[in-house]
Amino acid sequence: MLKRRLQNFDQKTLIRYLQAEDELQQELFQLARQAKEKVFGKQIWLRGIIEFSNICQNNCFYCGIRKGNQKQKRFQMNTKEILDCLKFIDKANYGSVVYQSGEATTDYFKDYLLNIVGITHKKYPQLGITISCGEQDFDFLKQLKQAGADRYLLRIETANPKLYAKLHPKEMSWQKRFRCLKNLQKLNYQVGTGVMVGLPGQTMEDLINDLKFFVDNKFDMFGIGPYVIHKDTPLGRDPKIQKWWQKNKEKNFNIFLNFLAILRVLLPNVNIAAATACDVFNPLGRIKVLRIAGNVIMPSVTPKDYRDKYLLYENKPNIDEGADKSFTDIVNKIKQAGLEPIFGEQGNSPFYYKRIYG
Ligand code: SF4
Repeated sequence: MLKRRLQNFDQKTLIRYLQAEDELQQELFQLARQAKEKVFGKQIWLRGIIEFSNICQNNCFYCGIRKGNQKQKRFQMNTKEILDCLKFIDKANYGSVVYQSGEATTDYFKDYLLNIVGITHKKYPQLGITISCGEQDFDFLKQLKQAGADRYLLRIETANPKLYAKLHPKEMSWQKRFRCLKNLQKLNYQVGTGVMVGLPGQTMEDLINDLKFFVDNKFDMFGIGPYVIHKDTPLGRDPKIQKWWQKNKEKNFNIFLNFLAILRVLLPNVNIAAATACDVFNPLGRIKVLRIAGNVIMPSVTPKDYRDKYLLYENKPNIDEGADKSFTDIVNKIKQAGLEPIFGEQGNSPFYYKRIYG
């Protein structure tokens, strides 16, 4: 039985299904869909995402807003702009907000973030609040939780520390990132992580270890994306990687979909978000994910003027539209796919409740 073989981490089966196409792939998708619908039915939870700052102190080799990208104009939204976004989120009846930015650990940034989380929690207590602002220390994470944050998303990017070291400068440490994820669990956050699928140098064995890492470490939610090249980065400037990426991008996207389907079979009651980067490969990329394995989508609420300044990767979709259009488009697409967008609910991870309360 396929489900049992995947759950037992049978290496041959995993490699076969990670690379599956056509009928074999449909068999896997069907299994994932059944696992998902047993827990979530057709429901898709919505979170309005505000990408409030592209200032980052790090230099990840794949990321367009890395500190070393001098071409990138920087911004940080002011409180009034954040309040306008929140008004929209309230009007649209999204059940949760996601605050995302580059990583900063200055006192100025910490005060700013604590302030906006505090305001959000006070003005809109019904909203779930997710933070995705990189590695932060234990005390600050505790303060954020006390101010009203519910969830934190920190991608590990790869469970292989050696591959991580090839993608990041030496000041960045896989172990430190992992410790931060563990601190988030200690603080009872709903903890999300994820990897990039289709990275240069990544093997099938790496992807299997990523899946095992997710299961072993009991994460509640996942934000997993396909790797997309950005020309103003060390990886994107390498002609060999450019050529490799162009040649393999469709194949890698296919592996990415299979990876998510296997994850859903392994962890039926976690939250899995459909990453915006999926739409680089196909205008209905995110919807594809929602039909197979995903149960969460994060329509952008970032003001139009800032969208083209928050490009972690190239060809990011929907950068010339405002929050209204992002809302209408995504809701229509969800409905057209026979799924049900859910309004006004936080959409917490059932896995989290089980992990915390048994
Ligand atoms: S991936 Fe995150 S931490 Fe790394 S450079 Fe980009 S925004 Fe900064």
